[in-house]
Formats: sequence, structure tokens, C-alpha cells
Amino acid sequence: MEFSSKLLESAVYEVSQLPGIGKRTALRLVLHLLRQPESQTTNLASSLLTLKTEVKFCKSCHNISDVELCEICANPKRQEKLVCVVEDIRDVMAIENTGQYRGIYHVLGGKISPMDGIGPLDLNIATLVEKVKEGKVDEIIFALSSTMEGDTTNFYIFKQLEPYKVVTSTIARGIAVGDELEYADEVTLGRSILHRIPFENSLKSD
Ligand SMILES: [Zn+2]
Repeated sequence: MEFSSKLLESAVYEVSQLPGIGKRTALRLVLHLLRQPESQTTNLASSLLTLKTEVKFCKSCHNISDVELCEICANPKRQEKLVCVVEDIRDVMAIENTGQYRGIYHVLGGKISPMDGIGPLDLNIATLVEKVKEGKVDEIIFALSSTMEGDTTNFYIFKQLEPYKVVTSTIARGIAVGDELEYADEVTLGRSILHRIPFENSLKSD
């Protein structure tokens, strides 16, 4: 792509670094911003920068939060000994939308993926094992997407938890293998949490 302006080229390059945005889309977005009032670009840039510099992660579940302990963890009505293990905040939002789940979460921050250089130590796994070790958890529900990385991560955590007395279950899936959790419809997802199955059973079916 040939640009008549270095400024334009640089803006297009930065936008095209975002996932799923090619050079053409980046150009369209940048030209759109150029036509809008300057305030729109200022607001966009400053909200992203503020998010990046001021974002906090809940000290208990690692979910994105504006305060030390997120609203879900701080809610006394939630069952704090029932912990649903998810990849990121999108999964928390999807499960919260079902209105069917009353436990709390543990946000891993990703999945084990050797291809992308992500190992167990890069994820929030140790704090989960620690919670279980301290007897703060009765049941762990695995709710990662059923991809190879999701399965690997579930199994790794399951093995880490084996020495301790904790029930492990996995969400029953009416969802095709490989579907991401965030795309599951609310009714199916809600039902699959209520009708979760012992984790060991999910291993036998493979
Ligand atoms: Zn929390």
C-alpha cells in the first residue's frame, strides 16, 4: 500500500496491529476518524490510555476491575466456595449474562499454548491451587473453551489439584467442540453450568 502521507501511513500501521484488522480496514477507520471532530479521536485515545495505565485486576479472582476486590467477589450473596475457572473477562460476562450462576470465578488470563509460548507459569494457576490448598474451595468448575489448549489447561490444573480434597466438574456442553465460550447462547450456557458433569467423566469420553 502506497501512502501520500507518512502521518497517514503511521496511523494506518498502528491500527492494523490490532487483531482482525487488515491494512484496508485500518485505512477505512483512520479516514473515518479524520472526518470526525477532533474530540472523538481525543476521547478514543485518552480512554484507551487511561484503561491501560489505571486498570486493576481483582486480587482474588484476577478479573478486570476498578477496585481491589471485584463486585462479584465482594458480593456476600455469592457462593465463595464454588469457583468457575475461565480464560478471561469475556467468559465471566457470558456466564453472568445467563443469570444461572451464583458462585465466583477464577480468571486464568489465557490458556496453556506452547505454540504461542504460553506456559502454566504465565497464567493465574498458582493462586487457584493456593486457594484450594487453604480449603477455601469446595468445587471447581472448568469452563474453558473445548479446544486443544482449553483441554490441556483443564488437565494441567486437574493434576495440580489432585492431592487436595476438592470436587472438579466441567460444564456440560451443548456447544460444538472448538466453539468459544463467549459465543454460546445464554440458554445453552446457563443449562450447561447447571448440568455440569464430574471432570473425570469428560476424560473418559475422549
Ligand atoms: Zn474478583
